[in-house]
Amino acid sequence: MRTPKKINSSAFSGISLQFHTVSRRESLLTSLLVALNSSHSVSCCRAIHARVLKSLNYRDGFIGDQLVSGYISLGFADDAEKLFDEFPHRDLISWNSLISGFSKRRDLACTSAKAQHEGRYLHGNAVKLGMKLESKVANSLVNMYGKFGCLDSAFRLFWEMPERNLVSWNSMVAICTQNGIPEEALQYFNMMRHNGLLPDEATIVALLQACENLPMGKLLEAIHGVTFTCGLSENVTIATSLLLLYSKLGRLHASHKVFTEIIMPDKVAWSAMIAAYAMHGHGETAIELFERTVRQGMKPDHVTFTHLLSACSHSGLIEEGKHYFHSMSDVYGVQPRLDHYSCMVDLLGRRGLLNDAYELIKNMPLEPNAGVWGALLGACRVYRNTDLGKEAAEKMIELDPLDSRNYIMLSNIYSAAGLWDDASKLRASMKAKGLIRSPGISFIEHGKKIHRFVVDDYSHPDADKIHEKLEDLIRKIHEAGFLPETESVLHNVDEEVKMDMINKHSEKIALAYGLLVKSSDEPLVVMKNLRICRDCHSTAKFVSRIEKRTIIIRDSKRFHQFLDGSCSCGDYW
Ligand code: ZN
Ligand code: ZN
Repeated sequence: MRTPKKINSSAFSGISLQFHTVSRRESLLTSLLVALNSSHSVSCCRAIHARVLKSLNYRDGFIGDQLVSGYISLGFADDAEKLFDEFPHRDLISWNSLISGFSKRRDLACTSAKAQHEGRYLHGNAVKLGMKLESKVANSLVNMYGKFGCLDSAFRLFWEMPERNLVSWNSMVAICTQNGIPEEALQYFNMMRHNGLLPDEATIVALLQACENLPMGKLLEAIHGVTFTCGLSENVTIATSLLLLYSKLGRLHASHKVFTEIIMPDKVAWSAMIAAYAMHGHGETAIELFERTVRQGMKPDHVTFTHLLSACSHSGLIEEGKHYFHSMSDVYGVQPRLDHYSCMVDLLGRRGLLNDAYELIKNMPLEPNAGVWGALLGACRVYRNTDLGKEAAEKMIELDPLDSRNYIMLSNIYSAAGLWDDASKLRASMKAKGLIRSPGISFIEHGKKIHRFVVDDYSHPDADKIHEKLEDLIRKIHEAGFLPETESVLHNVDEEVKMDMINKHSEKIALAYGLLVKSSDEPLVVMKNLRICRDCHSTAKFVSRIEKRTIIIRDSKRFHQFLDGSCSCGDYW
């Protein structure tokens, strides 16, 4: 990981700026300012500013621009604006440095209201000064609005632009997908084509992003079709995303077809196909593809091995997994990284070899991260090992004390072991730290729309019918021998209340809705932002058998394909 360069102000307090020529001083200042833009110190910025005021006329050219963007990147927009207002000549370069400074800001303190204010300031001043917003500047401004979620401003500015080029249209498509309104992204895409513009790689990549976290099967097919009409069907990057997205929707055949149609698959495409096989539990096929392609001369890298090991793990191929883990460095010269250790812990843990997994962690040459501990925790959850599970969850909290999911996992372990006191203490400490459990949301596509559900959700227009269907389903699965898994409910409440809450989890509601509206030959694809609970997992298994449906639930952790009463994850996630 790259760490940001930090300069402290003492580093150049000794600089006296006693140079013989102005140009020498300017070049020194310029390099300091460039460094400043990647630093985090406002005192540096002010120190330089003071020196500039003393010795140079900052009001011209590059130095002023750099100072402005320095202030902005540190979050001092007011200083930047004041300085900028004093510029006698504001040219396109000044505008660009100001705008790109604003759009590079990553600090969370910059709320959308602030961004809107800043955008209006920039835009308003440009208009006041009689500057025609050049499309390059306007495009950056549109992107800045989009990044901070100021969609109205982005839309308005887009339509006010004197001319819209491919970059402008691509920005709109990207903004819509990044802000979770894929339908609008598609509309902009269609308008763009009506305007006679041919999409390029960036357009398609932006559109494909819309399918990343939502069950957008229809959209994916539409985009796939478009790649043929605009001559991008042989683009390996696009084909690779298509194959991964099809696989995430449970359509391994479609993935495979896309892969075979790539004329010269590169390492990324090849690794993606192995990932697709891994996801679906086709470990042997993944190994076959790996061996065949290596024989043809392809050199695997660390990504290839991550997918290959996860394929072994998802299919329970212990010996093969161990073999590839050792040969990756011995034969292929690829040193195992944290991801590979996570896969190995997962592989061992899945088989219940918790002590072997723990030994591997204890003896690994790298500092284990949350991924490695998380893999152990998953195994402890399935095999109900409270002690090791507690240690893993505590390590995860230590590594990332602000991630509420870690507390919830630990709390789940306590609850499952009946340690209600510990669970409630933990919840109190979460509350004290201001950590809020993000609400579970499930998504399902129907009628060119994405339908969202939260727990106990009655907001859908068809809510009555959906809940009727859900009650009916729950009655049917109970008749078929389903046993509820109430330990998923965190609170120490009596059984009946637990049942009521658990039966209204968002994925169950989405599932009931899917059964209500989708034709019987369509697989039900539900996506969830959090991890699926045990009870919903068992429910989906029973429903797949009783209703004779393929159900796909993609949660934050992995992909589950339910068919005839069992899940592709082998009840391990
Ligand atoms: Zn659930
Ligand atoms: Zn599963």
